[in-house]
Amino acid sequence: MTTVATEDLKGLFVRIAEAMAREKDRLCELDGVIGDADHGIAMELGFAAAAKAVSELDSTTADPTLVFNTAAKSFLNAVGASSGPLYATALMRAGAVAKGKPSLNDDDMVELFAAFAKGIQDRGKAEVGEKTMVDAWAPAAAACRAARDHGSSLAECFAAGLKAGEAGAEATKGMIAAKGRSSRLGERALGHMDPGAASAVVILSCVKDHFTSE
Ligand code: ADP
Ligand code: MG
Repeated sequence: MTTVATEDLKGLFVRIAEAMAREKDRLCELDGVIGDADHGIAMELGFAAAAKAVSELDSTTADPTLVFNTAAKSFLNAVGASSGPLYATALMRAGAVAKGKPSLNDDDMVELFAAFAKGIQDRGKAEVGEKTMVDAWAPAAAACRAARDHGSSLAECFAAGLKAGEAGAEATKGMIAAKGRSSRLGERALGHMDPGAASAVVILSCVKDHFTSE
């Protein structure tokens, strides 16, 4: 059983911020094809702000809920693009699952992960197949939960989540967008991966790595 506390979550935000800085150009390029080329900038700014704010929290007094709520607020303030409210809602939902818990066990983490994904869906009202980040998040959360139901460790659950999220992101290439900026393109969006689904995979990869002990 893994025990996740404030310090582990702070580290996770730093890890994601570093990954977004590395992936910024690729994400902007993807958004340049079917959107307005700012997605990498939005994700880098958002997670840099979130990582900075949570790093400044005192780990001896800040509980996991405060980490997520602080990250949500900073992300929202830093990001003007549509990914801002989507991830802020996801982070708030994760914070709600953690409420009252000084640390989180495997089941808490899987539940939190599912609530995070559902937050994106509730906020953006996108369904699977509409060529958005939901096409990565929804299958990732489902695979993660299924793995947990089969008794898998947290690391195995997040590995299953990553795998399903990667397949979902890949599948967006064959989709016409029904939500967001790229929905104006119709069939011209075919053949291109949705940038939001691509950045979701970056996060999923960080989550998996962070909870996999070498
Ligand atoms: P903007 O489109 O405002 O420039 P970003 O470039 O940061 O915002 O993010 C674009 C991504 O947001 C898209 O690739 C898509 O994955 C995601 N997105 C847009 N609208 C929605 C929605 N309603 N639900 C879920 N995801 C969405
Ligand atoms: Mg954009």
